[in-house]
Amino acid sequence: MKRFIILSFLIFISVGIFSQSPVTPEKFFGFVPGSDRMLFTYEKLIEYLVTLDGQSDRLSMIEIGKSPVGKPMYVACFSSPANLNNLDALKAINRKLALDSTLDENATAKLVEDGKVFILATLSMHSTEVAPSQSLPLVAYNWVTTNDPDILKAMENVVFMVVPCHNPDGMDMVVNYYNENKGTKYEGSSLPGVYHKYVGHDNNRDFIFLTQSDSKAISALTSTDWFPQVMIEKHQMGSTGPRYFVPPNSDPIAENVDASLFIWTGIFGQEMISDMTKAGLKGVTQHSIFDNYWPGSTETCIWKNVIAMLTEAASCQVAKPIYIEPTELSGGEKGLAEYKKSINMPEPWPGGWWHLGDIVKYEVVSMNTLLLTASENKKKILALRNELCKKEIAKGRNEAPFYYILPKDQPDQGELVHLVRLMQEHGIYVYTLNNDISLGPTTYKKGDIVIPLAQPFRPFIKEVMEKQKYPERHFTQGGVLMEPYDITTWSMPLHMGLRSVEVDARNSILENSLRIADQDFTLAIPYLESPYTILLSTNNQSFKLAFAALQKGITVKRNQESFTLNGKLIPEGSFLVGTGATEILKEAVFPLIFSNEIPSAKWQTITFPRIALVESYIADMDAGWTRYIFDTYGIGFTVIRPGEFSKGNFAKKFDLFIFPDQNSAILKDGKYKLQDEYRLNNYRPEYAKGIGAKGLDSLISFFNKGGKIISWGESVNLFDANLVVKIKSDTDEFRLPFHNISEDPGLKGIICPGSLVRMDLVKGTSLTWGMEEKTGIFYRGNPLFRTSIPRFDMDRRVIGYFGEDELLMSGFLEGKKLLENKPVMVWLKKGKGQMVVMGFSPIFRASMPATYKLLFNSILMPALAE
Ligand SMILES: [Zn+2]
Repeated sequence: MKRFIILSFLIFISVGIFSQSPVTPEKFFGFVPGSDRMLFTYEKLIEYLVTLDGQSDRLSMIEIGKSPVGKPMYVACFSSPANLNNLDALKAINRKLALDSTLDENATAKLVEDGKVFILATLSMHSTEVAPSQSLPLVAYNWVTTNDPDILKAMENVVFMVVPCHNPDGMDMVVNYYNENKGTKYEGSSLPGVYHKYVGHDNNRDFIFLTQSDSKAISALTSTDWFPQVMIEKHQMGSTGPRYFVPPNSDPIAENVDASLFIWTGIFGQEMISDMTKAGLKGVTQHSIFDNYWPGSTETCIWKNVIAMLTEAASCQVAKPIYIEPTELSGGEKGLAEYKKSINMPEPWPGGWWHLGDIVKYEVVSMNTLLLTASENKKKILALRNELCKKEIAKGRNEAPFYYILPKDQPDQGELVHLVRLMQEHGIYVYTLNNDISLGPTTYKKGDIVIPLAQPFRPFIKEVMEKQKYPERHFTQGGVLMEPYDITTWSMPLHMGLRSVEVDARNSILENSLRIADQDFTLAIPYLESPYTILLSTNNQSFKLAFAALQKGITVKRNQESFTLNGKLIPEGSFLVGTGATEILKEAVFPLIFSNEIPSAKWQTITFPRIALVESYIADMDAGWTRYIFDTYGIGFTVIRPGEFSKGNFAKKFDLFIFPDQNSAILKDGKYKLQDEYRLNNYRPEYAKGIGAKGLDSLISFFNKGGKIISWGESVNLFDANLVVKIKSDTDEFRLPFHNISEDPGLKGIICPGSLVRMDLVKGTSLTWGMEEKTGIFYRGNPLFRTSIPRFDMDRRVIGYFGEDELLMSGFLEGKKLLENKPVMVWLKKGKGQMVVMGFSPIFRASMPATYKLLFNSILMPALAE
């Protein structure tokens, strides 16, 4: 009895520090999280965690940035009060373990002893995958109130950093839409549009180029700020396979990542499946479905020595339960061909009802297991981090390649600055040469950029700087190739159109001539106030600055022919900006050319077209990325949905229609078409409307009268058809003089699953101004064009085509011969209208600066001469 009294007293004291005991999720939200058809918003989730933070000394909420629409993003740190009071010192230990290769054995041992394992969990980046974020209040309440000695001990060893929602904007869109439709037959139907300001599902493709503010905030945690040793991203997958995926993943795996990291993801996965199975949670699979070779997802930090992994739970319909017939359960390709008891799924789930609350149970167990496993292995995990730091640096000193050198003189110096700053944002040390240096026959100049590989994050440097070679693995010896899950190319210099040299011999003179690049690295020269400024057309940033000047009403001209000025070649299409643009031009990161007079050349004043950007409601990520590029480059536009086409007279409102990459049947009919069969979708009918025959007719009539159209990817098929224009009482039926031949039986041998392929460009057209003669394009093998002799008032010019030299620049390509001499970018004319069709997305995921200019030039395409 006495012991009981003392215990109660102690509990009273520990609770008494805070004004009240932690509020339960049920009391706060009015329901138990995970209840059928019940969801809370991002704001409510944060409000709950902030409330708990005020009521508990085991939780600390820290703001880490803003979402793309400006919602604050947080990391919720769960740990012992002592650790939370000592976060800065613990973060300093993380940094040392991650980056300091000079620590001796004793110093490392001391840090391993004093340090804590930091786990970063990021939840529900894909906003329809609601369960991870919805389960957090249960996990949080348990962790701040539990008296379980194992959990309490683990919290002494671990700082568990949870990003409550990786995509706050999308979470609110999905939850609000679900609630609007709750109780109707459309409950659980697909959200119209992308669940993010711009990029929807592709937010998990942004972790190399770091274009979105949420990606930046989360990447900084692992790259430059907190240096957690373990990272996990929590997803959901389809409904009719296994219930839950835990690591390790399936083949192929990344060549540049150390074996130990894959093995450790397996250790965490093994503990999760073990605990889940013990808790009666069936249908857990591992070594299957998800491969692990491709960077760009949140787990890109595995290339920076973080034990990075993902889990995937089977989905219900957002929060609506579903019933799954046992006969509907099926296996997939990699690692789990049949839905049967197997070593990769030792206890299958038998089918039946599947609720949000079921997923929540797996999530709660998963989070506890991660905490306990990190704690049990604390010393090994912390020691590993410093071992890898030393190992990678040693590799960089002893194993080629040793450096990447990027000459300062590049056609697009703005993109060189972009690359330097991006690498720095990734936690990479970038240097400049202090003086000229000769390496063999090549002389590098003072100011050239050098990125040595002897760095802790060597795997990342190598991965994003080299050209990619897809790690080919087969299901059986000599059998079927495991196809890539996503794309096969991400080489930063090639995607940015930069020259980069891989150096395979060490050189001490070079190593002694390196100077660390500034954090705000620039190649700009001091600004000179002058009446005219010339921006070279070879720089992407020139377009941005010229567009900003245009928006301000400043006159901007482009030279129609190249000329020399003070011995410097000014390529065609460069911009001449008049006075009044000082603030804009000071943003330049490359050298501007200042002039007191208009140099004598053939100048033409440019104006902005009024742009309609066509974006369907159906997972239209490429359109979202296009909006992002337009906002970033200051290009004004209006979004037009396919269903709006039947409405009106476009010529009054727009000069140019842009059709990004989208299935042409979705655009035309509002539903996806595979071969000859329509696939019905899960959208409310008002969001599944297409352009329709009438809408297409009015678009073509707009085009015929002088309207412009730019179309790329699958949307080009809209215009590869019998089209009509009504002229008075006659109907003019025609086909534009091009055809997408990629479905021709003779071309079946082309396998190009998202690779960088070399395209030859023609000169003498404004569409290729500022471009070199050849460029890499991001290509998926479809569309591919044939042009034909035009009839009536039509015409065509091939702008870009596949030549006969080496086509594959990075990634995977089979059937190169079949591509040779075929057009992939074509200019078309009918009446007074002009159209540019591209077989590739010129802005693909904002990761193809090399081809942005093809789009910008097309937008600025002058009207046809009368
Ligand atoms: Zn996902």
